[in-house]
Amino acid sequence: MPSSPASERLNLLGLTRPALEAYVRELGSEPFRARQLARWIYKRGEARIEQMTDLAKDFRAALAERAQVRAPAIIEVQLSRDGTRKWKLEADGTQAFEMVFIPEDDRGTLCISTQVGCALDCSFCATAQQGFNRNLTTAEIVGQVWLAGRELAAAGAVARLGEPQEADRPPASRAVTNVVLMGMGEPLANLRQVVPALTILLDDFGFDLSRRRVTLSTSGLVPQIYRLAEEVNVALAVSLHAPDDALRNELVPINRKHPIAELLEACWHYLDEQNGRSVTFEYVMLQDVNDSLAQARRLARLLAGHPAKVNLIPFNPFPGARYRRSPEERILRFRDELIGRGLIATVRRTRGEDIDAACGQLAGRVIDRTTVRLGSKAFGVVVQA
Ligand code: SAH
Repeated sequence: MPSSPASERLNLLGLTRPALEAYVRELGSEPFRARQLARWIYKRGEARIEQMTDLAKDFRAALAERAQVRAPAIIEVQLSRDGTRKWKLEADGTQAFEMVFIPEDDRGTLCISTQVGCALDCSFCATAQQGFNRNLTTAEIVGQVWLAGRELAAAGAVARLGEPQEADRPPASRAVTNVVLMGMGEPLANLRQVVPALTILLDDFGFDLSRRRVTLSTSGLVPQIYRLAEEVNVALAVSLHAPDDALRNELVPINRKHPIAELLEACWHYLDEQNGRSVTFEYVMLQDVNDSLAQARRLARLLAGHPAKVNLIPFNPFPGARYRRSPEERILRFRDELIGRGLIATVRRTRGEDIDAACGQLAGRVIDRTTVRLGSKAFGVVVQA
């Protein structure tokens, strides 16, 4: 019997373990077959259902007719001088979103997107300039990790990480050891799709990543931080960028709705609920805007005594940006001031700059569907959770 068109077939990459088990049962097979199926998909990176040879033939046929394993299509791949790779991926035929792989000696970090564009309008971010089109689906979010694993294995990137070969551990899961939701979009504005995606990343049935190796970064959607605390256990990063509300209102407009004190309270609550070790606060270094020693002291006062780490991000320029990167010695002085006041502070090394793959440079191609612009659109207009 011919299969249904691809657009009508269920994408298995979007199913959590219980959903996959229920689906397998629905097709008349035993739920334990779901584990075999998941092993093919996630551990071996196999997309062709007919190749999943230890599944019964009838079951394979029924599955191939109704379901598929489909990752986003690749439009373009770019390789940086430093080994960073950026993929431009297709959405709806006309738009694009991006993901980035950053190899390091002891790990391989994949930075994935959660939305086509972003609605939050942070003044220093390239993605914000493009506006917002839609949320990515669970299958598109999980599909990025699945696709990167296959692509990196094919490119031989796995060998460079030098990890041992293990029978049931495919090249896929070895290349990508860490996943960060720090690409395009605000993950907490798309909780409905992001939570099941995170569940699949953590499940031993899926990618089997430890919760310390999966990090969600948010610009500070406070109610959704409380929701996340109840749903799934991953590391939390927060884009703080300013030590006071007046400046943060300007840089991260969602602050007008959820000011710093409220945001920090939500962070400490998250740690209590999740047994987390600390929250990472991202702080982009903008020359003469937020990089003075007085601001470092103010930041230290906000966070002192709490389980917090500060990650300073040198500003990455993009066409039309109205900021400059703080000079290196100023960034180091800022860091040392924080360390001197008892905080853990590091400077994020800029990677992939030559291919516009660094933080805040991801742009893709987005057809803006938001009509309200300039900050006000951050206020719940497109926050869907
Ligand atoms: N929307 C989420 C996820 C994006 S993470 C968030 O805001 O956290 C990307 C990180 O890069 C965020 O901390 C973001 O504030 C930061 N960033 C954005 N633009 C940047 C730029 N031009 N240079 C350096 N960092 C930037």
